Amino acid sequence: MITNANKTEILTGENNAASTDAGKAAAATETRAGGVYVHIPYCKSKCGYCAFYSRTDYSSSELYLTALKKEIDSYKTDCPFDTIYIGGGTPSSVRPGYIAEIIGHIKRRFNIAADAEITVEANPDTCSRGFLAEIAAQGVNRLSLGLQTDDGALLRFLGRRHDYARFTACVADASQTGITNISADLMYGLPAQSADAFLRTLAAVCALPLAHISLYPLKVEEGTPFYESGIAVDGDLQADMYGAAVPFLRERGFDRYEVGNFAKTGRESRHNLKYWRLAPYVGLGAAAHSYFNGERYQNPDGISEYLVSGGRVQKTKISKTESAEEYIMLALRTKEGINLDFLKSEFDCDLMNKKPAEIKSLQSRGMVEYDSGNLRLSDGAFYVMNSIILKLL
Ligand code: SF4
Repeated sequence: MITNANKTEILTGENNAASTDAGKAAAATETRAGGVYVHIPYCKSKCGYCAFYSRTDYSSSELYLTALKKEIDSYKTDCPFDTIYIGGGTPSSVRPGYIAEIIGHIKRRFNIAADAEITVEANPDTCSRGFLAEIAAQGVNRLSLGLQTDDGALLRFLGRRHDYARFTACVADASQTGITNISADLMYGLPAQSADAFLRTLAAVCALPLAHISLYPLKVEEGTPFYESGIAVDGDLQADMYGAAVPFLRERGFDRYEVGNFAKTGRESRHNLKYWRLAPYVGLGAAAHSYFNGERYQNPDGISEYLVSGGRVQKTKISKTESAEEYIMLALRTKEGINLDFLKSEFDCDLMNKKPAEIKSLQSRGMVEYDSGNLRLSDGAFYVMNSIILKLL
């Protein structure tokens, strides 16, 4: 259970304070181990479906590294952090030594636990043996590889720069380097992808030494090349594929611990669980956001804006009611569900007394389960998660 014990004065972001508090060092009282996220906003090329912020021009990357270090330096904290996550963009695509410098700097500045989970995202085309050796030497113990599919034609359609053989080589190289906690991202509901073909893809990756699989339905978001091309998705087919994938993966040892995330026992992403549990995290770099002490901090979106910002951020205080609603929405996505004691102690929200009729009705219809102080979705109710969330808000 998440407790309120061992209160520690934690985060004082000088940059954050400068942005809104005229230099006042606002002491924080967050209580749980935090996570550090770093955004690397560079990719070799843009995938047709991608709505993440990244640029293919690397000319600003050294200035960006300097700014990142400055942002890291601006934090004064004795808060314990037990995860670091280097995401993007494509962290494996920057020059040799770049990611090692960032991780080294974070370790010098933040109180990072000796057993911290340290994840780096990589794309197979740039995930070289040299890169793996570099990050392993910095204590990286988790690799998140973007595969998306094993079908060569679909990979080309998506705009990916690698084939399946390159992915399997990366998995083997990472294992040899000692990074055995490997995750693969996969997409489903791609044009011309059948449910059977998707299950064959899952079977192929399950045969590899992976610890974690993340599944994403193809979404066609405004502003992406796919959107401009008018590419459509079949929501019903995507639902069928997802429905087939859950038991398929479970039979192969990958248990669903969040709507789209499946892990072998003990290999759940400690970092991503922080987001769903509304635990504190510090986000560094362009477009990154942070959450601690019930406040959100949003860094400038673009690289140029980030470089000229001097670390100034947008700070938003979130009310307890808003935090409670956010926690309910996020925690219900997970296998563990809503920790009712935490909801009450942190956000003054006694859900069992606030929504007794709704909860009773959902329980009687087998949609939610109450167990050991947690309210969670039953196995078959993830399909209607959004409507259940609405009933509980
Ligand atoms: S590599 Fe990842 S972040 Fe970069 S464009 Fe493709 S999907 Fe987006």
